[in-house]
Amino acid sequence: MRVIIEQNSANGSVWAARYIVSRIKAKAAVTDKPFVLGLPTGGTPVGTYNELIRMYKAGEVSFKNVITFNMDEYVGLPEEHPESYHSFMARTFFDHVDVPKENINILNGNAEDLVAECAAYEEKIKAAGGIDLFMGGVGEDGHLAFNEPFSSLVSRTRIKSLTYDTILVNSRFFDGDISKVPTTALTVGVGTVMDAKEVLVLAFGHKKANALKAAIEGAYSQACTLSALQAHPHGIIVADELAVGELKVNTYRYFKDIEKDNLL
Ligand code: PGA
Repeated sequence: MRVIIEQNSANGSVWAARYIVSRIKAKAAVTDKPFVLGLPTGGTPVGTYNELIRMYKAGEVSFKNVITFNMDEYVGLPEEHPESYHSFMARTFFDHVDVPKENINILNGNAEDLVAECAAYEEKIKAAGGIDLFMGGVGEDGHLAFNEPFSSLVSRTRIKSLTYDTILVNSRFFDGDISKVPTTALTVGVGTVMDAKEVLVLAFGHKKANALKAAIEGAYSQACTLSALQAHPHGIIVADELAVGELKVNTYRYFKDIEKDNLL
């Protein structure tokens, strides 16, 4: 696993956006096949989305030949609700770039048959040729997508109950009222994310420091689902200084040293 430590979240966001663009261009240089990009919601990726939008507007990248798959969606929240992940993605990214509408895939949390919806999502990913790069965030408890602690590390797309902690953290988007936060979600599994050719996880702020300590220095364990990244051949964590604040000094120095030439 690589750990890129940037001074702040702004620099980390730029690093991640540039990396994604470089991977889109690298694939386009050798094949006409679309680039398949996995995407997260949440506060963390907003800076990266902003930088991707800036690069698109500056003519540095096009998303015309990109297919996207989002990580998760709440169950039972109307799509047009401002806090649905459909709304979030439109507002934060899709409305500002040239990803064709038909290339955008987000789980339908209002499907009549949620189990069939999850199975169909897995099939769609397969039919698209698998995910080239999955960008993700991490929860304070180490969750990857909505794979809460003790989710199977080989799980696939399915319905999950959210932990009280996650509901509490997400209530900031629902007027601070935990009763308004959906209690279940559809989410890609840890195995779904790990099948991607590359996984890029963003972690900014001291609130994520314990999660990164567990994921990087702790055991490969369902207690911290991000630790599954340890077994991925091309896993990258992009963090700011605050998010690596709980790493051992030697771990921190190791990654700073080995990545010292990977400048923005
Ligand atoms: P955040 O959420 O980006 O809003 O911190 C990350 C997550 O819960 O995966």
